[in-house]
Amino acid sequence: MSNCAIVGINWGDEGKGRMVDLLTGDYDIVVRNQGGGNAGHTVINEYGKFGLHLLPSGIFRKGVVNILGNGVALDLENLWKEMEEVRSKGVEITPENLMLSDRASLLLPWHRELDSLEEARLADKKYGSTKQGIAPFYSDKYQKKTVMAGELMYPDRLRGRLADLLEWKNLTLSGVYGAPKVTMDELMAWVDEYGEKLKPFIKDTGRWLRNAAAQGKSILFEAQLGALRDIDYGIYPYVTSSNTIAAYAPVGSGLPSARPEKVVGVVKAYSTCVGEGPFVCEWFGEAAEKLRSAGGEYGVKTGRPRRVGPIDIVATRYGVETQAATDLALTKLDILSYMDRIPVCTKYIVDGRETDEFPFPALLDGAKPVIEYLPGWKSDISGCRSWDELPKEARDYVLYVEKAVGCHITYVSVGPEREAYIMR
Ligand code: GDP
Repeated sequence: MSNCAIVGINWGDEGKGRMVDLLTGDYDIVVRNQGGGNAGHTVINEYGKFGLHLLPSGIFRKGVVNILGNGVALDLENLWKEMEEVRSKGVEITPENLMLSDRASLLLPWHRELDSLEEARLADKKYGSTKQGIAPFYSDKYQKKTVMAGELMYPDRLRGRLADLLEWKNLTLSGVYGAPKVTMDELMAWVDEYGEKLKPFIKDTGRWLRNAAAQGKSILFEAQLGALRDIDYGIYPYVTSSNTIAAYAPVGSGLPSARPEKVVGVVKAYSTCVGEGPFVCEWFGEAAEKLRSAGGEYGVKTGRPRRVGPIDIVATRYGVETQAATDLALTKLDILSYMDRIPVCTKYIVDGRETDEFPFPALLDGAKPVIEYLPGWKSDISGCRSWDELPKEARDYVLYVEKAVGCHITYVSVGPEREAYIMR
């Protein structure tokens, strides 16, 4: 069976967790290939409601093997806490169904601290970090200034490496930010506590995946955030510090030879954006508040109100191209049911000229949206399970988006529950 990547088309929070939870039933393995605990996937199933940050969404399916690949920012402390929380609701997590790549670099306690110190320094110029240490972590990874999970198996070497890192990092903590230095005892207490707990899960997952692929096992790659947050292709600098695009999935998973034949891009039926940065079709005031509360648009990790607006065709088409999506999942269509007419941002006006091309980030600040309207359906569609059951206006909206962004909408989601969707 072929491999599949599930990715975000926009700014994140498109409902990827819900789609991975739905589709994991068709795959043997689910791999998280980038990012860390800075975003959240919401999954609702027979065990309850979960905000997953690091655990792959396949953790709820019996027989599915879940892997955190080498591209992930491996935060042992938060991962352990998340595992305990999920286990407390009756979900089994063992080294049989969760594996951590020995090549995943460790997010250390000072990464989170540095994130907060830097956001505080930036004050009103901040990027809107979730303060999970992701940017300091990836900077250090590429400076070769952290350790890999597999190094936990070699305590003497590990201690020496950490001592060197500590000496270097304390120069920044105290010299740049005036913060207290971290002691070796504090660092080792952390490593001992969480390293010991998670050691049984650490494996050569690259080799394991190569064997699994040779046996014909199918893999679902689960990404975090969306195309517009990609470090190379997003709205830099308001991006995350890793590649959120499907092309990175093989690299960050541990199976660089993989070619996901199917790329499911997840798009919300309207736009949301967390944190700072340009957001061309943003709504304010009463209309925004109405959409935000209808859609429950508050961050899974931070509880922050999300910025909202109509679907952005310009950004979405760019996201589809960047992700090389073969199929789309349009989520939260049910949220638009209250609207008399459905707003769509069809073009931007940049430097006084209309364009349907997503512009270079520096031009986004001055861009203005061109809004058109489609008829609303004004009825509850959350119980619809087939295309024909959807009101004509809702079908027309789906068909409009599909044509405008140039990719088949294969799944239409009309509720957060696993079965609340329509397959086309
Ligand atoms: P992710 O990070 O891309 O997984 O997205 P989030 O989990 O942050 O946001 C998606 C939210 O919308 C979650 O609360 C989901 O349970 C919910 N959701 C997903 N699809 C639908 C849908 O079709 N309708 C409704 N009403 N809620 C949905």
